[in-house]
Amino acid sequence: MKYGPANIDPHVGLFARYLREQGLPVTQQRAAVAEAVFSSPKHQSVDDIDTHLRENGMRLGKATIYRTLDLLVRSGLVEEHDFGEGFKRFEHRLSRDPIHHHMVCLDSGDVIEFRSEEIARIVEETAARHGFRPAHHKLVIFGLSRASRESGANVKYRGITCPIETT
Ligand SMILES: [Zn+2]
Repeated sequence: MKYGPANIDPHVGLFARYLREQGLPVTQQRAAVAEAVFSSPKHQSVDDIDTHLRENGMRLGKATIYRTLDLLVRSGLVEEHDFGEGFKRFEHRLSRDPIHHHMVCLDSGDVIEFRSEEIARIVEETAARHGFRPAHHKLVIFGLSRASRESGANVKYRGITCPIETT
């Protein structure tokens, strides 16, 4: 695919502008990685992005994907998440409400987004009480999605059993 001005995703265009400002070449590979992230509202892993690229006939090395994701995060267009799964996830920041929180299903790995005016208010009030000016905050709820619960999944307890003798 050719990335000309006519068929370019406007967000890919913003990334191209960022690259030029940084004195970095706007390559077809970089544009393809950006397009892969921007094409989905999901919180994608590097493997997800790699799969998307392959489905579109592009085979890039993982190193190229990682380096481009790093640039996308630095540009502010993409947010990186570490939900403690042993890999990172990436989401497009501009496509929707930038302030949202996540629920991560420990069984399926599904990520559900939610918003809460009340949490925003609690963050403001708590920070004010400590004379703290909040810049941003993160809230992740771990557990089981409805679908996982309905299929009988359980949260496995991974720590040591009964660490404290109580008798
Ligand atoms: Zn999200």
